[in-house]
Amino acid sequence: MNKNILMTAVMPHPPIIIPEVGQGKELKAQKTIDGLQKLSQEIVDLNPETVIIITPHSEFNRHFFSVYSASVLSGDFANFRAIQVKLEFENDVDFIRELEFKIKEEFIRLNYISAKPLDHGSMVPLYYLSKAGYRGKIVVINYNMLDKGKHKLFGQFIAETAEKLERKTVFIASGDLSHRLIPGAPAGYNPDAKDFDELIVSSIKTGDFEAITDISYEVRDIAGECGYNSIMVALGVINDKPDKNEVISYEGPFGVGYIVAKL
Ligand SMILES: [Zn+2]
Repeated sequence: MNKNILMTAVMPHPPIIIPEVGQGKELKAQKTIDGLQKLSQEIVDLNPETVIIITPHSEFNRHFFSVYSASVLSGDFANFRAIQVKLEFENDVDFIRELEFKIKEEFIRLNYISAKPLDHGSMVPLYYLSKAGYRGKIVVINYNMLDKGKHKLFGQFIAETAEKLERKTVFIASGDLSHRLIPGAPAGYNPDAKDFDELIVSSIKTGDFEAITDISYEVRDIAGECGYNSIMVALGVINDKPDKNEVISYEGPFGVGYIVAKL
């Protein structure tokens, strides 16, 4: 086990669980809020130097992993009627430089996201980390269209980079599970959509990460998920080996599956 990867976690990113955005509706997702608070505290207690987040919702480049490149990264929830909630972190540009060197042969380069505020896929986890007291550096990366094997390989390079720099690192896969769990769900209802969520939850509980890798594209498509590729990178980070595997919370009160877990 890579001693510089202090924890690898999965977090959801619905803006509605930010109280200033939810305006009371967040209470329906209390389990998720409790789970995120607990996990964020645990992460802060580990005292990482850098938190790396992979998100589905920033700049999407088909072929390249995209990374925020400015020296200071900030964002707010203006798109969700809460402009007053602002966050700012230092970007770990040394990590990015080393990572880009490591991936060169396999992925050629990273795609830089410049002059753009952080997306909600990173902002929601960062909100809870910040509340718990996290003031360290971050790196925020958007996944792409490459296959799951490439996403895992990218995760391995992240772990190798942390080792090379001896950087105490926490990795967070930001992603929601199915968007079709109940009638009225954001992506429409599909009675089979829950299969994806059940598989992810049970596989993390038992540490059967091969079962996650084996999930077919069809099952993912029925679920209408956004978290799978983020989780693939996370599995690469830990080399498919369960480390602290635990599902802290899972629920889908608005028809979207929210999981808070350690891998
Ligand atoms: Zn999403």
